[in-house]
Amino acid sequence: MSLACEPRYLRVHERDNVAVVVNEGGLPAGTRFADGLVLADAIPEAHKVALTDLAEGDAIVRYGLTIGTANRAIRRGGWVHEGLMTPPDAPPLASCPLATATPNPLPALGGYTFEGYRNPDGSVGTKNILGISTTVQCVAATVGYAVKRMKTELLPRYPNVDDVVAITHPYGCGVAIDAPGAAIPIRTLRNLAQHANFGGELMVVSLGCEKMQPVRLMPAGALPVLEEEPSVAVMQEAHEGFGEIVANIMALAEKKLARLNQRRRVTCPAADLVVGLQCGGSDAMSGVTANPAVGFAADLLVRAGATVMFSEVTEVRDAAHLLTARAATQEVARDFVREMAWYDEYLRVGGADRSANPTPGNKQGGLANIVEKAMGSIAKAGSTALMGVAGPGERVTRKGLVFAATPASDFICGTLQLAAGMNMHIFTTGRGTPYGLAMAPVIKVASNSGLAARWPDLIDVNAGTIATGEATVEDVGWEIFRLILEVASGRKKTWADHCGLHNDFVLFNPGPVT
Ligand code: CA
Repeated sequence: MSLACEPRYLRVHERDNVAVVVNEGGLPAGTRFADGLVLADAIPEAHKVALTDLAEGDAIVRYGLTIGTANRAIRRGGWVHEGLMTPPDAPPLASCPLATATPNPLPALGGYTFEGYRNPDGSVGTKNILGISTTVQCVAATVGYAVKRMKTELLPRYPNVDDVVAITHPYGCGVAIDAPGAAIPIRTLRNLAQHANFGGELMVVSLGCEKMQPVRLMPAGALPVLEEEPSVAVMQEAHEGFGEIVANIMALAEKKLARLNQRRRVTCPAADLVVGLQCGGSDAMSGVTANPAVGFAADLLVRAGATVMFSEVTEVRDAAHLLTARAATQEVARDFVREMAWYDEYLRVGGADRSANPTPGNKQGGLANIVEKAMGSIAKAGSTALMGVAGPGERVTRKGLVFAATPASDFICGTLQLAAGMNMHIFTTGRGTPYGLAMAPVIKVASNSGLAARWPDLIDVNAGTIATGEATVEDVGWEIFRLILEVASGRKKTWADHCGLHNDFVLFNPGPVT
């Protein structure tokens, strides 16, 4: 029997009384493992098996933590699924330990570089893109029309520019623009406009009468500078119809393209990377293969001096007490608690709680509840100290591991991580999604070999080899780290970029619509 066919389960922590069956297609009842465990039930791939007899009320332990209590007796070898367990309450925020277990720094990792576009403000781009910001949805279709023409008529004349990207969105008017929640979408759009991959070339298209005027979108001080070099096209200032509107936008774009075309890649230390981590369409394998491998790569990046962001509030909420303990200082831990508390309240007002997070696909994939999903999710964050916390859409300035608060929604998280300054994105998936972003490369990591085999032209890294024993977490972690440097240098293309799969920008707007 080959290594890949032998019955195998993965146990994460020595205290665990459940493990995950990793064989593709699952295993039938009666299957005997090398250690003598015999399956009492058929168990689907990535689902849990009881390693001991469990009585009603017993804690079900995975990742060394209680992920639920048995609501009836489960015998050794039995299938431990969602219907048999009751999830615990979320850890209370008031009693989270503050910086009580800050990890010591890992040894520095020198000598790793990539070829990036260095900007005057010190940030480094991984692509060379003309970014066109918009103040309101009213202009989106017109900008889309102009961008299509730019790509065919202008871009071939500026071969050093990779792409033209319009940041279109539903915000900007018909919204309570002075409500407290408005700060989040506005700063998101402002920080997107100044993304490292846009090379400091600001371009804004405005309608004219909208609530979010260009001066509100852009930071104080930026627009006076722009008066010498116009960077805003206002549609309602045109007097000769659509033709003039489009011509104005095209003329402005061409000035920016000419300057962007002068940019050249230079050798930059890995410390200039700002890597955003995310998962989507997770399964129970994500937490033992893809996410730990990304966590190992995250530790390498932190050792190399880079910034690594993890996000997705509802997927870390149940591990809040572990992350506050890991904070570098009590202040960082309190910042983390503040973001969790804000989101608890946001969900409460909406009549929901964190249990709304797991999807039918997550559950079919073996994730019983949000606690199990959270424990698998934070494996992405590696093992280093939490150095900082940013609110939704805020720019991250710290090096090391940072929590950037975002919803778990793939598109909202990706958009907010871009606003935070992300120049490389690592995305793990078990169920599979063709996710991609126009503004920064997205490396997709599969949690299981079945997905990697079914989607060879969508998945960039297969972490399923960890489950079959063909590779270790460290092997795949190094593979991801090296691939990040290659992709950031423009030497390799992700599958999403190869196919041009770029999802929409989706803003997080907790404020009222009018
Ligand atoms: Ca997500």
